[in-house]
Amino acid sequence: MPLPSVIAVDGPAGSGKSTVSYLLAERLGYVFIDTGVFYRALTLVALRAGIAFDNTSALADLPHRTMIDIHPEPDDDTRQYSVWIDNREVTDELRAPAVEANVSTLSAVPEVRHGLLDLQRRIAAKGKIIMAGRDIGTVVLPYADVKFYVDASLEERARRRYHQYHQQGKHVELAEIEAALRQRDAVDTNRAISPLRRAEDAIYILTDDKTVDDVVDALVRHLELWKTA
Ligand code: C5P
Repeated sequence: MPLPSVIAVDGPAGSGKSTVSYLLAERLGYVFIDTGVFYRALTLVALRAGIAFDNTSALADLPHRTMIDIHPEPDDDTRQYSVWIDNREVTDELRAPAVEANVSTLSAVPEVRHGLLDLQRRIAAKGKIIMAGRDIGTVVLPYADVKFYVDASLEERARRRYHQYHQQGKHVELAEIEAALRQRDAVDTNRAISPLRRAEDAIYILTDDKTVDDVVDALVRHLELWKTA
């Protein structure tokens, strides 16, 4: 029995879905696509061009005039991939506070989401893909072979982010991180178009008390079951 060709992974910010999706892709020899990158890239373009985040017609144009490339980084274990906009590398800039603060607003614009839909589906059509985001199992790839919803409590997600920042030598208060995550959750789950929610047929994985390896093992076990189903 073959493995599923298309695997969708959704979940809130900081749930660890990108980390576990990346590791799962490595184990399976699949390509991992983190769709948050597309929204972050367009947010960066808007910031650079001085486009206001309430100027929906200017934002709507961005997917059509921006070339976003994601390259896997096999030789560099600190980064899973590099991201290029119009042939310039922007990987680190995508995590800038100004991008974090505005990405959910841009992501709530229907024309922006629609403009990215084809691109995501074309990538997935190549197969052997793990695509992570907020609406992959519900909207982008409703026919994905297997869907996971990776979750963690707000407190746990904030703690993880805090440790990540700490390791990078950045000091941000835990309460500040928690407030920013809460705000992003609220916009992502309450927006009218493609809100973050678990697809009915998604397998729910709560990661609060699990290590990264535990979660990847759990995903693999579910895929094994899929194989034998
Ligand atoms: O996953 P990440 O935190 O990088 O995503 C950044 C933002 O991009 C999310 O908070 C959400 O607003 C948006 N996003 C989305 N749909 C996706 C992936 C990300 O709306 N499929």
